[in-house]
Amino acid sequence: MVSHRVLCWDCGAVIEDPFVSVCPKCKGLLTVKMDLEKVKEKSPEDLRKTPIGVWRYSDFMPVDASKKVSIQEGGTPLYDTKALAEIVGVKGMHVKFEGLNPTGSFKDRGMTIGVTRAKELGAEIVGCASTGNTSASLAAYAAKAGMKCAVFLPSGKVAAGKLAQALFYGAKVLSIDGNFDDALALARKMSEQKKLYLLNSINPYRPEGQKSVLFEIMDQLNYNIPDRIVLPVGNAANIWAVYKALTELEEVGWIDRMPMLTGIQAEGSAPVARAFDEEKKDFIPVENPETIATAIRIGNPVSGRKALAAIYNTGGYSETVSDEEIIAAQKLTARKEGVFVEPASAASVAGIIKLRNMGIIDRDETVVAICTGNGLKDPETAVKYSNPPIKCANSVEAVNKILSD
Ligand SMILES: *Cc1c(COP(=O)(O)O)cnc(C)c1O
Repeated sequence: MVSHRVLCWDCGAVIEDPFVSVCPKCKGLLTVKMDLEKVKEKSPEDLRKTPIGVWRYSDFMPVDASKKVSIQEGGTPLYDTKALAEIVGVKGMHVKFEGLNPTGSFKDRGMTIGVTRAKELGAEIVGCASTGNTSASLAAYAAKAGMKCAVFLPSGKVAAGKLAQALFYGAKVLSIDGNFDDALALARKMSEQKKLYLLNSINPYRPEGQKSVLFEIMDQLNYNIPDRIVLPVGNAANIWAVYKALTELEEVGWIDRMPMLTGIQAEGSAPVARAFDEEKKDFIPVENPETIATAIRIGNPVSGRKALAAIYNTGGYSETVSDEEIIAAQKLTARKEGVFVEPASAASVAGIIKLRNMGIIDRDETVVAICTGNGLKDPETAVKYSNPPIKCANSVEAVNKILSD
């Protein structure tokens, strides 16, 4: 195992108790400090002997790879989306399609590491609060590991595909009267009483696995560093994970500059984007977050301060998009590139379009959009915003007439 320590991101204290999710001294956020001395002797080429995916980068992961709980996460395509680049008006654009992970979202990258860690600790029950994808992913990895799993979902606001997954993988699915932030508060109480090992992204091991999306993007671009990486921001761990991966690649000397990290939020759920707009390092929670993009419908992002640091330290940006812009971008990505992403994921494409129109993104830029989840997760939204099937008589003439319209 690569040696590492868990530290408080705020006060620097070394954290010994593996069951705490905030610093016992200052209530600060936790982070993992990897010892990368041995990796400095290696090159990206050395890692390419193993298949692309999270575990190719086990040198950067704080768990024992020989005991991994894995269902082949990561290794998702990086599409060269020329049609989108042309429409948006940028020099180059790629889409990293995280919807092709085993449970259909990037959450699997964090869960393979998080559940491996839970196993190392001998945990019997794992749990999380979730807007949907975290629970789907945790339920799958808990099943693979033979652990009991409890997921806390906000009642009524979870996309159908995600709920189906959590139920079918055999988790105890608890529908909590309240929103995501309420569900998380309850899950944290259970964890503080050591009733379960909490695998929300406040857990410092999950972002460690999520770093792999950045390692893969760099691998797939042969270390030609893009100017900008754009991703949706909900609880804000993923943008932090991408930033942490960049700092580690810089530390081992594999990159010498960083892309501008750009976080997109939904208009009705945008504490991080508002803080950025006001040049603040901390955010004010949004009381009743609302957006069609349920995966980023989060008013009090756990890693919001880390996200702001990631954005400021890379000269990045943060912006909001409306639900209409999200749906339009979701359709565009499907219809021009054949890539069906879920609404939250389309926020990154919508953000690129908006920022290009605002002149924040330059015509000369190369951009990567991380599309975090699969469109099949949320069939109801897709059907609602599409024309219904066309009624057609059972005859060749009737079909011909429709096709000629
Ligand atoms: C979890 C999730 C997000 C938000 O990621 P954070 O790390 O919470 O910012 C975005 N899109 C999808 C599809 C997700 O599942």
